[in-house]
Amino acid sequence: MNRLDILAVGNLIRNGNTIEEAHSTSTLIRSGNVNIVVDTSTKEMLPAIKTSVRQVGVLPKDVSIVVLTHMHDDHCGNNDLFGKAKFYVRKEECPEEKSFIQVSGNTEIAPGVRLVHTPGHTEGSMSVFVESERRYAIAGDAIPLEDNYRKMVPPGINYDVTIAMESIKSITDYADVIVPGHGFPFLRDARKER
Ligand SMILES: [Zn+2]
Repeated sequence: MNRLDILAVGNLIRNGNTIEEAHSTSTLIRSGNVNIVVDTSTKEMLPAIKTSVRQVGVLPKDVSIVVLTHMHDDHCGNNDLFGKAKFYVRKEECPEEKSFIQVSGNTEIAPGVRLVHTPGHTEGSMSVFVESERRYAIAGDAIPLEDNYRKMVPPGINYDVTIAMESIKSITDYADVIVPGHGFPFLRDARKER
């Protein structure tokens, strides 16, 4: 069975329309003997990530796949920690970065671990859908904060509100538990209209 662990809980502090501080949440998926990290957060979160991987008994060199939900700096700050990993990024995010595996369609990277295109925040934003004892979606900034779900509002940074809201819907249609781009995982409200 796939297992999820949160390596670091990121935060997002806004002052009006200005973002004062942003560190993404970083998640580890263990699928059989394949270790997958989704988003590597920022240098400020490096101590937390190092502590977490030690606690779960996974060395950074044992991580074979890193998925970047998109290429904003606050999601990619510790890429160099995972020196043995292949990096998966949507093709829209970094067409010139040849060392990355450029993802186009939705694709399964391990049993029950799917990369799903969820644009809106950026054109190449993607989420990771994970089958486990429940269904998890690691949303990146398609759902940057739990508040975006509670209030059903698009990410503050978006290029198309309609597309962004469609992505929120596809994530919440699937998932029982949502890991937002920033903050703690939360449960989808079963009473909420799907
Ligand atoms: Zn972002």
